[in-house]
Amino acid sequence: MAALPAAGLGSLSSPVRAQPKPELMRVWPGGKGWPSETEWQELARSVEGRLTKLHSSLDVCRTAPAGPACRELFRELKNPYFIGDDPSLTQTTGWLDAWETQTSAYVVAAQSTADVVAAVNFAREKKLRLVVRGGAHSYLGTSNAYHSLMIWTRHMADIVLHDAFVPSGCADKAPEPAASIGPGAIWMHTYDAVTTRGGRYVQGGGCGTVGVAGLVQGGGFGSYSKNFGTAAGNLLEAEVVTADGAVRIANACTNSDLFWALKGGGGGTFGVVTRLTLRTHALPPFFGFASVVIDARSDDSFRKLVRRFLDFYAERLVNPNWGEIANVRPHRRLDIQMSFQGLTAEEAQALWQPFLQWVSAAPQEFDVVKAPAIRAVPARHRWDPQFLKRNAPGAIRSDDRPGASDANIFWAANVSEAGHFIEDFQSLWLPAALLSEPQRDRLTTALLAAAQHSTVELHFQKGLFGGSEQAIRDARDTATNPAMIDAFALAIVASEAPPAYAGMSGHLPDLERGRRNAAAVRAAFACLFAEVKPRGACYVAESEYFLLDWQDAYWGPNYPRLRAVKQKYDPDSVFFVRHGVGSEGWSDDGFSRFKD
Ligand SMILES: Cc1cc2nc3c(=O)[nH]c(=O)nc-3n(C[C@H](O)[C@H](O)[C@H](O)COP(=O)(O)OP(=O)(O)OC[C@H]3O[C@@H](n4cnc5c(N)ncnc54)[C@H](O)[C@@H]3O)c2cc1C
Repeated sequence: MAALPAAGLGSLSSPVRAQPKPELMRVWPGGKGWPSETEWQELARSVEGRLTKLHSSLDVCRTAPAGPACRELFRELKNPYFIGDDPSLTQTTGWLDAWETQTSAYVVAAQSTADVVAAVNFAREKKLRLVVRGGAHSYLGTSNAYHSLMIWTRHMADIVLHDAFVPSGCADKAPEPAASIGPGAIWMHTYDAVTTRGGRYVQGGGCGTVGVAGLVQGGGFGSYSKNFGTAAGNLLEAEVVTADGAVRIANACTNSDLFWALKGGGGGTFGVVTRLTLRTHALPPFFGFASVVIDARSDDSFRKLVRRFLDFYAERLVNPNWGEIANVRPHRRLDIQMSFQGLTAEEAQALWQPFLQWVSAAPQEFDVVKAPAIRAVPARHRWDPQFLKRNAPGAIRSDDRPGASDANIFWAANVSEAGHFIEDFQSLWLPAALLSEPQRDRLTTALLAAAQHSTVELHFQKGLFGGSEQAIRDARDTATNPAMIDAFALAIVASEAPPAYAGMSGHLPDLERGRRNAAAVRAAFACLFAEVKPRGACYVAESEYFLLDWQDAYWGPNYPRLRAVKQKYDPDSVFFVRHGVGSEGWSDDGFSRFKD
C-alpha cells in the first residue's frame, strides 16, 4: 500500500515554489482607494437601492453566546432556507484548518441583469474583491470573502418552461423542450416547477437547496445522471455578465468558448451567470429507491459481502437505470441507498432478488439490520411538496419560519449537512477497470482496508461509465475532466461536525475530534488512492480544499483551453476563486498577486 498522502490527490506531487513577492491588487475598507460613501451611494442608486452594508448575523453570538438570540440562530442553522436567505451566512460553516464564514463589506441583492452589470462594473473600476453567491453551498468557501462586494442572486429565481427552445443564433438547430432558470433558483424549486407542475425532467443535483448556477458550473451530478447526464451537459444556453460589464449570450453558436467553460469550469470564474437554459426530458413513469443495510459477522464474511455486491452491481446495476450510494462502513456494515428510474418497483424487486436471497441464505454470516425496501413513486410526485408531506413525511423537513412557502422542503437526509463544519472531505473517481472481473478483488481489498478507518461512500451516479449514449456524448462536450466518463463511481470519504465557528465561545469547532476524524478520512482515502495512481481526478463542486494539482484533478486535458477562455474574458481576474481557473499566482484571499 502506498504511503499516506498528507493532503489529497495532489500531495504526491508537491511543486517547489520560489519566493515570490505579493503585490496588492485590490482594495479593502479603510485602505487606499476604498470607495467613498458618495461612490457607494452612486452604486446604491444604480441598483435601485438594492445595496446593503453587510453585518454578520453571527454577531449576536459573539456578544452573547449563551443568549436566546444566539440559541435561536443556531437552531435556524439546521434550516438551509434560513441560511440561503441570509447573505452573511454559508451553508457550510467552515472547514477545519482551511476556512470559516467571512462577511462581505457590501451586498447587492440583485433582481435583474442590470443590477449585476452595475455591480460588476463598480467592482472592476474600484478594484474590489468580488464574490458571487447563489445557493451558498460551496464546500470550498468560494462564495464568501471578507472586505468583498457580494453579488447575491437569490431573488433572481424565475423559472420558465419552453416547449421548443432554439438557442439564440442557432437557427439550424432542432428546437427542444427546455427550462430557463434564474441564477438564484435552487434545485428543489426547479424540480417542483419542471416536474411537479410541468411534467418534465431536468437534470440537477440531489440536495434540494443547492443553487442551479453553482451546480451546473461545478459540473454537478444527480441521482439519475447515468441516464440524463451531468447538469453541465444539459446546458443549452446561458446569459452571462463578463468582467467588462457586457451581457453576453453563450451557447453552441455564440461565444461557444465561454459556453463550454461554463459547463463544469467552476463557478465565480468567468462572469456572473444571470440565466441558464437547461434541456428538459420526458419523464419516466416512475422514480424509485432501493435500500438495505447488512452487517457481516466476521471479516471473512464482510469480504464476501462486499465482493458479492460488487459482482451484483457490475452484472445488474451498471446501466442508465441506477444511481446513488453504497456505503462501506466501519464495523463491517454495508449500507445501500440507491435510486432508479425507467423500471417499475416490481422490476426492480425482481432484479435485486439474487443478491438479497444470497444474503438471507447465510444468516450465520449476515444480519439484515434494515430490511430491504424497494419502492417507486409516480415520477411526477418525486419532488411534489404536497405529495411528500402526505406520503413520506419522514423523508422531508420543512422551512418552519412563519410565512415560509409551502414549497420550501428539504431532504431529511441532508439535515446533517445543514450548516455543517467539514473536518475533511476527499473524493476520487474510480475507473471502470477497477470494477472489471480481474481487478474486483483488488477493489474489494481496498474498500475493506479503507473502511477500517472511515466510511467509503460509492456515489455511482457521479461517474458516467455504464451511462446512456446521450449522457456520455453531452458530457464529453463539457469542461469537466473526461475521467468522469470512464469512472463507475465517485468515491467520497468525509467527516463533518455540527455548525461551529472559530473564536465563538460555546460554538467552537472541536479541533481535537476534527483532526482525529480528518486523519481517519485521510487514512481511508489513501487505501483507495493507492489503486488509481499515478493520477486521481474528481470534480470541482465536490472536492478537497487542500488539493495541490487541482488543475489536473478537476479538468485534466481541458485545463489549457479553460485558461485561454479565462484570459480572453477576464484577463485581469476581476473574478477570483481559490483553485479556480486562472487563480495561479494569487493569494488565497484573492487580494494579492505573487510576482517572481
Ligand atoms: C449539502 C450539499 C449537498 C450537495 N449535493 C450535491 C449533489 O447532489 N450533486 C453535486 O454534484 N453536487 C452537490 N453538492 C456540491 C454543489 O454542487 C456545489 O457546492 C455547488 O457549487 C453549490 O452551488 P451553490 O450555488 O449552492 O453554492 P455557492 O456557494 O453560492 O456557489 C458555488 C460557486 O459557484 C459560484 N456561483 C454561484 N452562482 C453563480 C452565478 N450565478 N454566476 C457565476 N458564479 C456563480 C460561486 O461564486 C461559487 O464559487 C452539494 C453540496 C452540499 C453542501
